[in-house]
Amino acid sequence: MTLYNAFTTSQGIRITKWDDDFNVESSYLVSDQGCECPAAKPCKHMTMLKRFRLTGVIDDNDFYDPETDQHYGLNL
Ligand SMILES: [Zn+2]
Repeated sequence: MTLYNAFTTSQGIRITKWDDDFNVESSYLVSDQGCECPAAKPCKHMTMLKRFRLTGVIDDNDFYDPETDQHYGLNL
């Protein structure tokens, strides 16, 4: 399982990827215009940002798995 969450920061929305032990694996500032990651744009984080907005879990404690398109609460 690959889990992400999204939080608003003073610089914009930050999407963070977590490993199986809930350590931060990577973390990027993302907007509709771009993303900090080195991948070609639009990258998966920009797609994910749309999903996070659609489901309203930005600044929520839920995690999102882009492989299954599922959201998970903290009580995994
Ligand atoms: Zn990206």
